[in-house]
Amino acid sequence: MAGKNIHAFLVSFPCQGHVNPLLRLGRRLAALGALVTFCTPEAAGVSIRKANSITDDGRPTPYGRGAIRFQFFDDGWDFDSPNRDDLPAYFSQIEVAGRVKLPQLIHKEAEAGRPISCLINSPFVTWVSDVAESFSIPNAVLWTLSCACFSAFYHYHNGLVPFPTEREPEMEVQLPHVPLLRHDELPANLHPHNTHVYIRDVILALFRNLSIPFCVLMDTFEELEGENIEYMSRILGRPIRTLGPLFKDLESELESKKESKALRADFFKAEDCIEWLDSKPPRSVVYISFGSVVHLQQEQVDEIANALAESEVAFLWVVRPPAREMNSKPHVLPGGFLDKVGDRGRIVQWSPQEEVLAHPSTACFMTHCGWNSTMEALASGVPVVAFPHWGDQVTNAKFMVDVFKVGVRMCKGGEAEGRVVPRDEVASLLEEVVRGPRAEEIRANALKWKKAAEAAVAEGGSSYMNMQCFVEEIARFNLVPN
Ligand code: UDP
Repeated sequence: MAGKNIHAFLVSFPCQGHVNPLLRLGRRLAALGALVTFCTPEAAGVSIRKANSITDDGRPTPYGRGAIRFQFFDDGWDFDSPNRDDLPAYFSQIEVAGRVKLPQLIHKEAEAGRPISCLINSPFVTWVSDVAESFSIPNAVLWTLSCACFSAFYHYHNGLVPFPTEREPEMEVQLPHVPLLRHDELPANLHPHNTHVYIRDVILALFRNLSIPFCVLMDTFEELEGENIEYMSRILGRPIRTLGPLFKDLESELESKKESKALRADFFKAEDCIEWLDSKPPRSVVYISFGSVVHLQQEQVDEIANALAESEVAFLWVVRPPAREMNSKPHVLPGGFLDKVGDRGRIVQWSPQEEVLAHPSTACFMTHCGWNSTMEALASGVPVVAFPHWGDQVTNAKFMVDVFKVGVRMCKGGEAEGRVVPRDEVASLLEEVVRGPRAEEIRANALKWKKAAEAAVAEGGSSYMNMQCFVEEIARFNLVPN
């Protein structure tokens, strides 16, 4: 059994977009027989515990041929401390606390007879690589964005190609084996006008530490970003192991189908909307969600609501209260909106997104193009209306529309453009993807990627083989010499 005797210790930054792919990786490792400990600060632990049926009392929950346990650590700040609203300060605080806590946890695991075979971390907690090195524990990094974005940050960090500057903000960027990116198609954090400089710096920290991990894991697949993956592996001098789509559990590795839905780490409890979807005709529902962070302007919410109210389309819309640190007001739907749409529309605060995308009634996905949502849409064969806001979302939108050809674009980047997309434009884009003359072609492309994604994770597929190699590599590192 490939993963037997492996204890993989996974450390995630406490945000949904990192926790999801890292836990999915944990599930895949556990399915192969590994003991997996999933570790993140208590700030996320509080929400994860509340929204899911998990415990963090150290007891492992069986999963596949292995097991998973959760371990939350105190980041040193009170849960309601106003300091938490200052994100750059919080990044530093997690590092300060983590550099103390993680070594203590490593010792504790060894004393309990569960020495750690591999430390795997998401971006934003790059100091985990330093801790791994100081304990001589093999380290791997799970890059949570696309390989194209990895290449952009790598080339930017190493000054290998010219990027837009204050003097030339509209410069195009040509990365090897990546289509030409306009200035507004680059990961927005790399543009000189971007205001979230601390996010750029925290991502670049990973590239400064890149000599430590023995491999870089990615939630993408070879058929999707092939030449670029090969090229980046070559210049890194180390394998990039693509394992995606990670959210697709391989049922042959599990005891029962039920298992694949268990062990989630959502920060909010998903509302049940599957029965409602069951009541709708095939390919009739527009699913709208902008991930866990993006908070639209109220005017944009009004325009989307009015477009939906005036159309005849059925829709499921995630309208989430803003994260505390966004300092924004909750959205308000236009007066009479809910009465007007009746059972044609359903509003939830959090959805079981993977199930929604897999549902036969779902026709299209209006998405902010976070990388997880992108992979989930592609692997579910669902056409998209791309509505990116910032960061890598603008690059993912470019790929979905121009390269993978699975949808249409509502804007180039909501934050930079600052424009409210009017209701007529919203309505006509939805129409184009669901019923327009190009709808069939877009759907055929989406289904092509779904098949390719399924083949990548199926036995013998590229991601499947990469996962086997990765597990064997960890096992080899941990062979005790006779
Ligand atoms: N998600 C979900 N229900 C929702 C909204 C989002 O389960 O109502 C999940 C989604 O499936 C994805 C993650 O939250 O796995 C969001 O990650 P993504 O990278 O798409 O965006 P981010 O939240 O990081 O901006």
